[in-house]
Amino acid sequence: MLVNIIIIFISGLIVGSFLNVCIYRLPRGKNIVWPPSHCPNCDIKIKLYENIPVFSYFFLKGKCSNCAEKISVRYPGVELLTGLLFVLIPAISGFWLWDLRFYFSAIFISFLIINFFSDIETELIPDSPVYIIIFLGLFYGFIKGDMFSSFIGAILGFCLLHTISFLGKFFYKKDVLGDGDIKLAAAFGSFLGWQGLLPALMLGYIIGGAVSIILILTKTKKLKDYIPFAPALTLGTLITLFYGSYIINFYVANFL
Ligand SMILES: [Zn+2]
Repeated sequence: MLVNIIIIFISGLIVGSFLNVCIYRLPRGKNIVWPPSHCPNCDIKIKLYENIPVFSYFFLKGKCSNCAEKISVRYPGVELLTGLLFVLIPAISGFWLWDLRFYFSAIFISFLIINFFSDIETELIPDSPVYIIIFLGLFYGFIKGDMFSSFIGAILGFCLLHTISFLGKFFYKKDVLGDGDIKLAAAFGSFLGWQGLLPALMLGYIIGGAVSIILILTKTKKLKDYIPFAPALTLGTLITLFYGSYIINFYVANFL
């Protein structure tokens, strides 16, 4: 069991290293496989031993070996986060490496990480992974024998957020949601199914509301500023991915 956990953790670190590339390149419309990793400041190609997840960051003391440009702490952060979240798949959901559901969960978590950091850093949600996840979500639903739930989830995610966006524009005369948020909700609905989408949205709004209040109280943002909703929705979705059935059972037992 310990060997499996170590394998999963190291795989997560390596995948996280690739997610860092996606987070930087996808919102900028760059190719994610070519050219190989290079320093964004001096363009020097990063050597293989400088590209070891987490370890290299500390070995290089957080700086480019050529121009001494600071490397964002997001790089080792995303690598560690991916490793830890991959380990939570068997720990919480009970899906191990020999279970197909492990791989679907890992792909979905990778997608959540890309969106979370892309949106925080650039306020952009890259399109192509969203379409891949809508398709994969439907396929996952098909494998689980409930493609209908995925299909309804995708449509519901799109329609619900589209309505909220429309109402927001109507009442506040400004964009309360980006187009990216609407497509994102469709992808989450496709993957979680409609039963999972509802708690994810609810959690997203609670987290988003709480973070907005903190940002406004600490004067980091003003009331009229645009506060990205996607990171909150992404967190809500991650919690639902792991604890969705508990949340639904709790709701049914207490409120229905
Ligand atoms: Zn450099």
